[in-house]
Amino acid sequence: MDETVRYTYRLRPGAQAVSALNAEWGRCRWLWNEAVHQQKTGAKPTFCTLSKLLTAARARNAWLRDGSQVAQQQTLRTYAQTLAHSYTVKGRGRPQPKRRKTSRPSLEYTRRGFAVKDGRLRIAGGATIPVVWSRDLPSDPTSVRVYQDSLGHWYASFVVTRTVEPATDADGGIGIDWGVATTATTTDPRFDLPHLGHRKRCAAALAKAQRKMARRRRPRGHAQSGGYRRAARQAAKLHKKAARQTTHDARVWARRVVNHHALIAVEDFKPKFLARSTMARKAADAAIGTTKRVLIEYGKRAGRKVVLVPPAYTTMTCAQCGTRAKDRLGLGQRVFRCGHCGNADDRDRNAARVILAVAERGHADVDDVRHSIPSPRGGRSGAVRARNPLPSGMGKR
Ligand SMILES: [Zn+2]
Repeated sequence: MDETVRYTYRLRPGAQAVSALNAEWGRCRWLWNEAVHQQKTGAKPTFCTLSKLLTAARARNAWLRDGSQVAQQQTLRTYAQTLAHSYTVKGRGRPQPKRRKTSRPSLEYTRRGFAVKDGRLRIAGGATIPVVWSRDLPSDPTSVRVYQDSLGHWYASFVVTRTVEPATDADGGIGIDWGVATTATTTDPRFDLPHLGHRKRCAAALAKAQRKMARRRRPRGHAQSGGYRRAARQAAKLHKKAARQTTHDARVWARRVVNHHALIAVEDFKPKFLARSTMARKAADAAIGTTKRVLIEYGKRAGRKVVLVPPAYTTMTCAQCGTRAKDRLGLGQRVFRCGHCGNADDRDRNAARVILAVAERGHADVDDVRHSIPSPRGGRSGAVRARNPLPSGMGKR
């Protein structure tokens, strides 16, 4: 079976290529802003009407004709898609104008707009850019996106097809609970992922750059100095480096988990639970977000069963008997002790086991599972008793 993926490579454009790319971006940005203006003045621009607008605009303006039609068309296609998503996808806003100072270049070329020749990327308009081939392309690319990141580095992201390696045979399930000190606590300690703190490791260098920024900052309304911008760039570089190391660790870990398990039960972590306070927490949150996304993607790609379990009550419920504790565990309390069956376990490990139990029984959340685990003492589960202390029937009177 084939799958369509993106392979991204660093570009090393020369001065000429950079100015060509920036000029192309300027034209595409103008088109985008024109489309935004159309939408704001009442017309609902479809890709078809936008294409007509492009043809008319190219006929009128020689400077627009200088640019690549492929890149310009793709810009409008992206716009039409963004606009459509703003109506159908929850949380997406309408497309906004792209400002010269704040938007980053991003150009898209379909097959007739680019070629890879002698290890270089040749794009419509004549720019030839050396590519850092960090790995081989698995197939001929069908399209490419050339973009610049926040550090000013250029990349080419090729759309390619590759054959899916058949997933290794695996059985059994794993439950995963996210946390701060340990990014992922699982039902099997061998698969735990400790928080490696890449951000913390470069904290001293980062603080140095930030102090430099503070010293050189000019008051509002004044252009910042070159020294300030250099320091800001250094800080951004350190942030990006830490984020990349986190992503790499997440990928290695996720691959190992996916290779060894058929069922993957994941706590459906929402970052806002933790991100309120300290920098360390925010870093942990970012690591969890990345790791969760990668794990789900790899799991689905390998054909594993991936179940997202809402985190409510997972730390309060006993994995052995399903009893829910009356009180929430404090964050400092690392051991879960069940008042019903006496089961004592690491707090996160217990939560991971509950998450796995929910998924294994095919339930949607913890509320379903605590009624289905039979109490070891027989009869009704303790959870029900804890909630309704009166003997059955008495409460109704
Ligand atoms: Zn228990």
